[in-house]
Amino acid sequence: MGLLTVGTPLSWEETKNSRKYIKENGIIQFINHYKKVKDRNNDQLFWGDEIEYTLVEFDHKQEKVYVLLKASEVLRNIEINVSNQANTVWHPEYAAYAIEGVPGYPYGHLMGYFNTVESNMQSRRNEINELYLKNDECMLTITAFPRLGCPNFTSPKTKPDPIKSVSKSLFFPDEAIQSDHPRFKTLTRNIRERRGKKVAINIPIFVDENTIQPFEEDLSLYGDDGTSQEATKLDHVYLDAMGFGMGCGCLQTTFQACNIEEARILYDQLTPLCPILMALSASTPIVRGYLLDIDCRWDIIAASVDDRTDEELGIKELKEQQFRIYKSRYDSVDAYLSPDGEEFIDEDVVIDEGFYQTLREHDIDHLLAQHIAHLFIRDPISLFRESIKINNEIETDHFENIQSTNWQSMRFKLPPPNSPIGWRVEFRPMDLQITDFENAAYVTFVVLVTRVILTMKLNFLIPISKVNENMHTAMKRDAVRKEKFFFRKGEFISTGSTPPETAEVCDRKRSCSESNDKMRITPENCHVELSINEIINGGDNFPGLVPLIRQYLQMVDADVDTMCSICQYLNLIETRASGSILTAAGWMRDFVRNHPEYSKDSIVTEKINYDLMKEIDLRSKGKSKPPSLLPNYKSKTVPNLSKATTAGEEYLNSIRNTNFV
Ligand code: ADP
Ligand code: MG
Ligand code: MG
Ligand code: MG
Ligand code: MG
Ligand code: MG
Repeated sequence: MGLLTVGTPLSWEETKNSRKYIKENGIIQFINHYKKVKDRNNDQLFWGDEIEYTLVEFDHKQEKVYVLLKASEVLRNIEINVSNQANTVWHPEYAAYAIEGVPGYPYGHLMGYFNTVESNMQSRRNEINELYLKNDECMLTITAFPRLGCPNFTSPKTKPDPIKSVSKSLFFPDEAIQSDHPRFKTLTRNIRERRGKKVAINIPIFVDENTIQPFEEDLSLYGDDGTSQEATKLDHVYLDAMGFGMGCGCLQTTFQACNIEEARILYDQLTPLCPILMALSASTPIVRGYLLDIDCRWDIIAASVDDRTDEELGIKELKEQQFRIYKSRYDSVDAYLSPDGEEFIDEDVVIDEGFYQTLREHDIDHLLAQHIAHLFIRDPISLFRESIKINNEIETDHFENIQSTNWQSMRFKLPPPNSPIGWRVEFRPMDLQITDFENAAYVTFVVLVTRVILTMKLNFLIPISKVNENMHTAMKRDAVRKEKFFFRKGEFISTGSTPPETAEVCDRKRSCSESNDKMRITPENCHVELSINEIINGGDNFPGLVPLIRQYLQMVDADVDTMCSICQYLNLIETRASGSILTAAGWMRDFVRNHPEYSKDSIVTEKINYDLMKEIDLRSKGKSKPPSLLPNYKSKTVPNLSKATTAGEEYLNSIRNTNFV
């Protein structure tokens, strides 16, 4: 998660004393760097995924499962083994049981790459399982370990220390935080100290037949001095540590744009799709051993790093702090960046006026200046003594310090200094899927959506306030099947190219635009409320993202195997969206509720968790295939592009000398 600088970490008091310096210099670094990279052009499409994996250990005798605090050891062993041509790259994550894996190289613009994504995900999984873990240990793609924060949830065993630990949590021990790098504990402590108290995360509990009502825990049993109890809410599951959020995994995708204008367009157009993909990828129905009334990680992680003070939250009058701030530093984006987006920013964007003026004086346009001045309302929360004085002409670390601790649903990534890498946009809202097939499907879908947006010049912009509302809707239990989302209506095809259309898309488009004909689209009247099914599969108001992708696919050349994999991926997305198969969250919830040991009291016991994790492990290894979740288990994926494009060559060579009878 973000920039890793090494050195002596500063306390919050010391960080506070340097924050003005860091932010002022971060802005100067941005300006200097921006001047060098603003006219970059004609960069190709490169893209890649990031998966945050969870390590677990099974105790099959006792039928228990724990998160395995072995990430450091695994990463150190990888470092010893790694070759320059590695097919995979591994990064540390916040949790001591988590590692992040990305492909060894980004994927390029050829269609055949879509047929290598799943294979790469498989090699990541196999590499860790086979080379670095023992028999009873495994690496899962779950968003949140269901019994995170329950007594004895780790292996080796640990005990939370509410008094001496960096998070002061009743449930989450320091040992579960990655400690090979000081950044993670420093962030934890500084967020708590900046906020003035520990974080408080209250998530509505799923009320079942026998759930105690009202639901309220006695936290003194965990050593609470009363302050935690005070922070709880009735009928909510209470969590009190950064680890409950940053210890979650997620699925991210980054794309390179040809230039800054295209990057702005992608950033804007994907912003309204964040809640849609979040709902569709939902896989977080359980935390701390309780069934939740939400399905996604988002609220948990947003609250887990919320360092706002009472003044910033609007509870107290502004005295020491500068701004009243409406969202956590982990939340959905507040403003668009492309010229088309401007009129859809209908909520106050809190900015640092001074920085905004400085940026404007350096010829940075209003929208980009607003974006940067908005990121810079946040303080640095992790600083290292050795890296405060740096050269603003060539380095961008202070800018990146603020940028990388604004964990928003989209990230606008600058070309790094002195690098061949261009302007990129990162799509960050998705929960993880259980299998590589599913994760590959979601990533492929998102990348294809970006191609469709650019090729067909689609316009999904709706007011930011509606995107925010959609984010809240998306988290709700079973949002895919039950909820409606604000979505752009009418002239979704703005201008420009008219690709050949399938009859289906053609009809739908005609009926959509007839109903909106001649009416000028304004931010007030630009949206309708659609189900996920209508957005993905189409309906009277919108042709559907999957049909649009299918139309796009008719225009491009892809080999048969790649096409076959893509179709299976689209099929998964279609059936999830239509509700005919469950989201991972829906399936996990049902698994718990149908478990013989479940007492209908919202409690996910150690045995239930063991059975659930075992099933997830088997399924992720292709050893179990319940019909309710997946239409297909695995595509015809291949390990690299040359295999994808020269499909069959190896096979032909291998059968050359065979006698056919
Ligand atoms: P971060 O943690 O900052 O989001 P990572 O390095 O962990 O960044 O992941 C970046 C992702 O972007 C990886 O999947 C990587 O393959 C991909 N990637 C690398 N270079 C490019 C590029 N030039 N354009 C687009 N994506 C890239
Ligand atoms: Mg990460
Ligand atoms: Mg990363
Ligand atoms: Mg990161
Ligand atoms: Mg993380
Ligand atoms: Mg990332």
